[in-house]
Amino acid sequence: MRYCPHCRRLNPSYPVICHYCGRTWYVRLCPRGHENPSNAQYCGTCGSMDLTETVGRRPWGLYLLKILIITILCIGVFLLGKLFFLLLKREVVILIVEFTLVLILLMAGYVIAISILPTPIKKIILKLNQFFLKNIKVVIMEFGQTAKEFFNLILKC
Ligand SMILES: [Zn+2]
Ligand SMILES: [Zn+2]
Repeated sequence: MRYCPHCRRLNPSYPVICHYCGRTWYVRLCPRGHENPSNAQYCGTCGSMDLTETVGRRPWGLYLLKILIITILCIGVFLLGKLFFLLLKREVVILIVEFTLVLILLMAGYVIAISILPTPIKKIILKLNQFFLKNIKVVIMEFGQTAKEFFNLILKC
């Protein structure tokens, strides 16, 4: 997404020209698509006078906000990491090992159960498995897309 400060609308994806007012972000484009500084009167490459209007000055407040958000995120990750290592020193390690062992045992039991079961039931369980895996994949992909959009919004405006 890209925010246009001129018409105050959010553009889907990351266009060069605003979908709603036809202005460009911080550069003036000639009809041939050459980029020029925002105060240019003529295209520096082909001399065209027909340059696009810009959406306005770069919003410094927004940049500061972005830096602030990124800093807070970094501090958050750092603190979480520190907390993780603090916890790791205690009995949590044993808990994690136990949990992993139980998980492995459960998976082994599951595999053995499937190999003992008659073929028709096996087929149904395998179909269910595929269904769940597919749905989990879709959820993860959608989450990834949302995260990507969020970071795009933060990093490029
Ligand atoms: Zn616009
Ligand atoms: Zn040009």
